[in-house]
Amino acid sequence: MDILTIPVLSDNYVFLLYDSHKKQAAVVDPAVATPVIREIEKLGAELIAIFNTHHHWDHVGGNHELLARFPQATVYGGKEDKGRIPHQQVFLQEGDTVEFAGRQAYIYHVPGHTKGHIAYYFPPSQGEEGELFCGDTLFAGGCGRLFEGTPAQMVQSLNKLRNLPDSTRVWCAHEYTLKNLQFALTVDQDNEILRQRYQQVAEDRRKNLPTIPSTIGLEKLTNPFLRWDNPSIKSTIGLEEPERVFARLRGMKDNF
Ligand code: ZN
Ligand code: FE
Repeated sequence: MDILTIPVLSDNYVFLLYDSHKKQAAVVDPAVATPVIREIEKLGAELIAIFNTHHHWDHVGGNHELLARFPQATVYGGKEDKGRIPHQQVFLQEGDTVEFAGRQAYIYHVPGHTKGHIAYYFPPSQGEEGELFCGDTLFAGGCGRLFEGTPAQMVQSLNKLRNLPDSTRVWCAHEYTLKNLQFALTVDQDNEILRQRYQQVAEDRRKNLPTIPSTIGLEKLTNPFLRWDNPSIKSTIGLEEPERVFARLRGMKDNF
């Protein structure tokens, strides 16, 4: 399975999954359709699946036009997004699986940013990395805002993702990494790996390179929103309980 990153709008990423043997493609969170159709045509491929993580327009805005061009494609989303994702046909819940390129992806229900948000996780197989498509739940160096959920729900959701293997590649839907790490440095000052990551990301962004994918291992070491139980962060925040540490961090970031 090949993965192409298509930057769209001001800071969204659309991911095109490609099965070169079957010449089939699937798309994750198509905010818009035109650049996606262009890439699929370049590959001479057929679009067979649209995998949506949640109902926000910058993740589903291309569904209609993509279906008009590839009417045989199946539209997937979370079961709690029923009625909110254009043309949704499959209503997924935790533990369900979907297939693409001879691989299976497991569905995680990850409420917090929205209540119906799901993530797609392809475990490693035959020398290929594990891949996580997590929409606006986990970002490189950060996490999504809580529009429809509580801190407790988001901690639970992020904990599911944190438990995936360290080598799992993290494909999140926005290029927010530099700003996220700037915030991270304010609450995790002594983290040398975080400092190094910040330098690297700053350099990549100066060259206009994407900072995606990250990995679960790197996020665990540098993303404050996965580090609610880190002693240094807890003492900086002055709180103990995971949910309260997380809620405080989220509140600080909202105003950063
Ligand atoms: Zn969103
Ligand atoms: Fe978004």
